[in-house]
Amino acid sequence: MQTTELDKPKSNCGIVAVYGHEDASIYAYQALYALQHRGQESSGIVSSDGEQVHRHVGMGLVTQAFPDINVLKSLTGKLAIGHNRYSTTGKTMLHNAQPFLVNFKEGPLALSHNGNFVNSGSVRDRLVKDGAIFQTTSDTEVVLHLMARSKAKDIAGKIKDALDTIKGAYSLVMITRDAIFGVRDPRGWRPLCIGEKDGAYFIVSETCALDLIGANYVREVEPGELVVIDKNGPKVHWLAEKASRCACIFEHVYFSRPDSKIFDENVDRARRKLGKNLALEHPANADIVISVPDSSNTAALGYASSSGIKFEIGLIRNHYVGRTFIHPEQSARDFNVRVKFNPVEGVLRDRRVVVVEDSIVRGTTLKHLTTMLRRAGAKEVHVRVSSPPIIAPCFYGMDFPTKGELIADNRTVEDIRKSLGVDSLGYLSLEGMVSAVSRNKDKGFCTSCFTGEYPLQAEARTTKFLHETEV
Ligand code: SF4
Repeated sequence: MQTTELDKPKSNCGIVAVYGHEDASIYAYQALYALQHRGQESSGIVSSDGEQVHRHVGMGLVTQAFPDINVLKSLTGKLAIGHNRYSTTGKTMLHNAQPFLVNFKEGPLALSHNGNFVNSGSVRDRLVKDGAIFQTTSDTEVVLHLMARSKAKDIAGKIKDALDTIKGAYSLVMITRDAIFGVRDPRGWRPLCIGEKDGAYFIVSETCALDLIGANYVREVEPGELVVIDKNGPKVHWLAEKASRCACIFEHVYFSRPDSKIFDENVDRARRKLGKNLALEHPANADIVISVPDSSNTAALGYASSSGIKFEIGLIRNHYVGRTFIHPEQSARDFNVRVKFNPVEGVLRDRRVVVVEDSIVRGTTLKHLTTMLRRAGAKEVHVRVSSPPIIAPCFYGMDFPTKGELIADNRTVEDIRKSLGVDSLGYLSLEGMVSAVSRNKDKGFCTSCFTGEYPLQAEARTTKFLHETEV
C-alpha cells in the first residue's frame, strides 16, 4: 500500500510562530489549520510559558494530531511555534514530526522548517564524523547540531552561524523560553510573513493563517532576514550571504491558497493573470471553459474572462478524500482519479470544452480526466496549462517525480498532446508566467523546474540522502 497525491508536486510545509498571547497554542493550532494544504502527514506545536516548554506532535491532519482541547490546554504559555509536514519519500514517522525540540546549554530550543537544504548530506556526514548523534532522518536536524557547536554568544548569533554553513531553501521559525525567531534564506525561496493583533506577533507561511486568527498583515520577512521577537519587541538581523531573490514561482501557480498574499503579492490576482495570459497566447474555438478543481479554478476564471468563453463547473471534486489517497499500487490511479473527480454530464454533453489545468507533472490524472470528459459527452477537449512544461526536478522544497517520469521530459508539445489524447494543448510561456506573477520587474523568481537552470546546485550526496530518507 502507498499514499500518493494526484499527479501534483508535494513536499512543502506550513509553519507558524506566535509571541505574546495567552492563547498562543490555540492561535498556532488555528494557523496550522489554515495552512493544512501545505502539509498533511503530521502536525505539531511547541509552546513556552517562560519557564518550561511543552511539545505535542501527532500524525495526520491538524484535527487528528490535536484531537481535543485538553491537548492544546497542556501547551501553556504566551509563545508557540507549529508545523505541518509533508515528506518526500515513503517513510512517514512520528519521530520526524516537527517542531524538533532539543536542550542546549542555554536552555530549550525548538525549530520548524519549510524548504530543502541543498548541502545537508555532506554537512551531516561531517557532523557524524565529529561524533554527532542524529535523532531523525530529516535534513532539518543539521541546523540544531550546527547551532550547538556555534561559539556565538546569543541564539541569533548561533542561528546566523549555522545558516552560514547550510545552503538552500528555507523558511524557519524557532522558539526558546522567552523569544521567537523567523528567518528566510537569502534567496527567499519559500514565503514567510509577519502579522500583528492586540500587541501579539505572528510569523506564518501564508496570510490565510493571519486571516483566520484575525491578525493584520504587517509585512514579509525579507530574504536573508532574521526577525527576533522578545519582551523588547521585534529586532532585525541579517544573514551574511547576499544573493538575488529566487521566490518559488510554483507557489503562485499551484501551491499557495488563492486567498493568501505571498511574496507581497495576492495569489488570486497572479493566478487570474496567468489564466488571462494563457487565453491571449492560446485561444480556442470552444463553447465552455472548465477548471480542474480546486487549484486551477482561479486561472480558469482568468481564461474565461479574457477569452469571452463562458466558465462552467464541469468537474466536481470530492473534498472529503483529502489531497492524499491510499491505493495498493500504481495501477490503481484510475480509481484514484475517479474517487476525486466526477464529470457533470449536463454541462459537458455535445460541448467543445477548454480544460484549464495549472500544471502537468506525469500527466496521469489528466489522461484519466480526458477519458472521463469524453465519456460524459464532451465533443472536443482542449487543454490549456497556466504554466510552461515541467522539465526538471526541484531541489528547493517541492517534490517532483524523477526527470524521466515527467511527461514533458524530452517530448514536444505535440507528443504530449497525443499522449494525453486531447484535441489541442497549449502551455503558457515562461515570459507569460513571469509577467503574470510579478508587477515589479525587479522581483526575481525561481523557474528552475521549467528551465532546468538552477541558481544553486544541489550536492549529489544531499540529493541521494533526500531520496533515501525524507525531508
Ligand atoms: S524548481 Fe520549481 S518548484 Fe522548485 S523552487 Fe523553483 S520554481 Fe519552485
